[in-house]
Amino acid sequence: MKGVFVAGTDTDVGKTVVSAFLCHALGQQTEVTYFKPVQAGYPTDTDHVTDVCEQRLRIKPSTYSLRQPMSPNRAAALEQKDLRLAEILKDWDERDETIHVVEGAGGLLVPLNKQDKIIDLIQGMELPCLLVASTRLGTINHTLLSIEALNEKSIPCLGIVLNGATDPGLKELLEEQSGVPVVLELPTFDSVNADSFDGFLSKSEGARALVEQLCPKWKHGDQTAEDLEAFDKEYVWHPFTQHGIVKNHPVVTKGKDSYLYLGNHKVLDAISSWWVNLFGHCHPGLSRAVQDQAHQLEHVIYAGFSHEPGTLLAKRLVELARARGANLDKAFYSDNGSTSVEVALKLAYQFHQQNGDKHKTRFLAFRGSYHGDTLGAMSVGERRGFNEIFSPLLFEVDTVDPFDDEALQLYFEKHGDQCAAVILEPMVQGASGMRMYGAEVLDRLATLADRSRSLIICDEVFTGFYRTGKMFAFEHSRLKPDLLCLSKGLTGGYLPLAVTLVGQRLFDVFNNSDMRQAFLHGHSYTANPIACRVALASLDLIETSQTERAVQNIEQWTRECLGDLEQACEVYNVRTLGTIGAFEVNSDDPHYFKGDFSFRFHRKALEQGVLLRPLGGTIYTVPPYCMTKTELQKTYQVIHQIIKEEF
Ligand SMILES: *Cc1c(COP(=O)(O)O)cnc(C)c1O
Repeated sequence: MKGVFVAGTDTDVGKTVVSAFLCHALGQQTEVTYFKPVQAGYPTDTDHVTDVCEQRLRIKPSTYSLRQPMSPNRAAALEQKDLRLAEILKDWDERDETIHVVEGAGGLLVPLNKQDKIIDLIQGMELPCLLVASTRLGTINHTLLSIEALNEKSIPCLGIVLNGATDPGLKELLEEQSGVPVVLELPTFDSVNADSFDGFLSKSEGARALVEQLCPKWKHGDQTAEDLEAFDKEYVWHPFTQHGIVKNHPVVTKGKDSYLYLGNHKVLDAISSWWVNLFGHCHPGLSRAVQDQAHQLEHVIYAGFSHEPGTLLAKRLVELARARGANLDKAFYSDNGSTSVEVALKLAYQFHQQNGDKHKTRFLAFRGSYHGDTLGAMSVGERRGFNEIFSPLLFEVDTVDPFDDEALQLYFEKHGDQCAAVILEPMVQGASGMRMYGAEVLDRLATLADRSRSLIICDEVFTGFYRTGKMFAFEHSRLKPDLLCLSKGLTGGYLPLAVTLVGQRLFDVFNNSDMRQAFLHGHSYTANPIACRVALASLDLIETSQTERAVQNIEQWTRECLGDLEQACEVYNVRTLGTIGAFEVNSDDPHYFKGDFSFRFHRKALEQGVLLRPLGGTIYTVPPYCMTKTELQKTYQVIHQIIKEEF
C-alpha cells in the first residue's frame, strides 16, 4: 500500500488542510484515496476534503464515525462503542493501488481504546508519517515529543509540516533538534480551495518536492509543459491546423467549470471547446457517471448485443424528440457528427431504393452548410474554401441558397420528384460563420419537401440541446425532421458519441427477413456504454429548470454584451440566437485563408484569458451553460480590447 499518514502534534493543527492539499495536488496526476479511519464530530473532515478536491479523489468511508467532537475513545464510550484496531486494519485494503492519504485523529498518543493509540494505528498501517505542527506557542515541545515517539516505534517520518503564520527561525530550530526536515511551510490560506492550493503549489518548490516524493511519476504541470510542447511539435498533427502558421500548442492541464487551465494561466472557454461542452469542464456529476460506468462495462460490440445505457439513452432521446412533435422512433448510434450525417444520407437513400422510389436519388443541401469532414458529409457541405480540393471525389448534390425562396420553390418544381432528402442545419449554419436564417425558410421547406415526399434531415449536431434557446432548433419552425442528427453536446462534451434518430416508417422498410435490405452500417465503438451513460447524466442536467434558466440568462447577457460592443466600436451584422452571439469586424472580407486574422485574434484573446476561435472574419461566442454574467462580460471586454488594438 502506498501513501502517507497525516498525523498531528496535537488536535487542531491543520491535518485536514494538509490532507486536502495533498489529495488535491496528487489528484492532478494520479488516483488518490482519502481515508479518515476514526472520525469524531460533524461536519466530518472527509466532507471538508471532498469540498476542496473533486477530481480523481476516492473516499474510503471512516471505519468509525462518532458523533461527539472529542477524543475518540471518549466519544466512542458515549455511544457504547468499542474502537478496535483490528477492525480498522481490516478495512485497509491491501490490493488497492491508488495513493492513500490517511488522516489521524488528534495527536500521536491519543488513545483509541485501553491498549491502542493513534501511533499504533500508524504502525499497523505501515505507512510513513507526515507530522503536522502549527506555528503557535508550545509547538517546539509538542513536535519534539512526537518525533521521539515515532522514533521509538521505528515509524519513518517523511518530515514536519509547519502550518500557519511564518515564525522565523522555527524551521531551523526544529530540524536541528529533531534531525527531521521541515518539508513544508503551509501559509494560512485566505480561503481553502483548489485555486489557493494551485497557487501555493506553483510557488513552493518544497510542496512540489513533497508531492513528488509521494508519487515519483508526479510532475508539476509547469515543469513539463515545455517538454510536452516539444513532443507535441515532434509527434502530433492537429486538426484544422496549418502547422506552418501555428507553431506551438499550449498544453491544457485541467478544466473546471467555464475555465481551462494552461498551467497556471486560466482561460475562459467561450466556445464550449468547439461547441461540445454544455455544463462546464469536469462537472462532478458527469465525471462520476464516466467513472461508474467504466467500472461496470466499458464497451461491447453493439451488433447482436445491447446494454442498459444504450437502450435507456435511445428511449430518452426518442421521448425528447416526440415531446417536441417529431415523429422519431428509433435511434441509430455512431460516434461523431460526420458519421451521424453519413448514416442519415445512407438511410435516406436506401429507404427510397427499397420503398419503390428508385428514382429518388438526389440530395438537396443549403449553400454555406457544414455537415462534417468525411467524404459523404463533405459532399452535402459547402465546397468553396477548405473542401474545394476534394471536389472531384464528392458525389453530386443540388444546392440552393437558404435566403433564396424562389430558387427553393423552383428546385422542388423541377427536381422534387427525384429528391431523396434535403439536409440542413436548422436556423443557423454554424461552421460557415454562424449564418442565421429565419424560421420561415424552414416552414416553406417543410411544405415543399412534404409535397414531393423528400425526407428532411436536420443536422442538429451543433444546434441540439438548447444552443439556439430551444432543445432542438427545428422547434423554432413548423418543420419536423424525418431524420435528426445529434452529436457534439450529446455527452455534455465528455466523449464522442452520435445518434441519428428516424421514424418507424423508415425503419419498417428495412425490417424484413432479407439481409440485403438491412442497414449494413456500423462503427466499432457504436453506442459506447461509457459515452451513453454520460449522455444520460447530461440529459438529467439538461432537463432541469436550472438549465432552462441558465440558457435564458446567457441569451439575455449575450444580447446586452453585444449591444454594448456595438455602441463602443465598429462591428457588423450583430446577431444572436439562443446562446449564440456573432458579428463581423469587416463586412466582406472572410480572411480565412490568410489564417492570419482569425489566428491572431485567437492568440491575443488567449493571452488575455479567453478562448475564442473566429470563423474567418466572424467572431462568435457559444459559452457553456455554467458561464456567469461576469465571465461573459469579461469575454466581451477582451473582444472589445482586441478590436480596439487591431482596427
Ligand atoms: C461539427 C458539426 C458536424 C461534424 O461533427 P464532427 O463530430 O466534428 O464530425 C456536422 N454537422 C454540424 C452542423 C456540425 O456543426
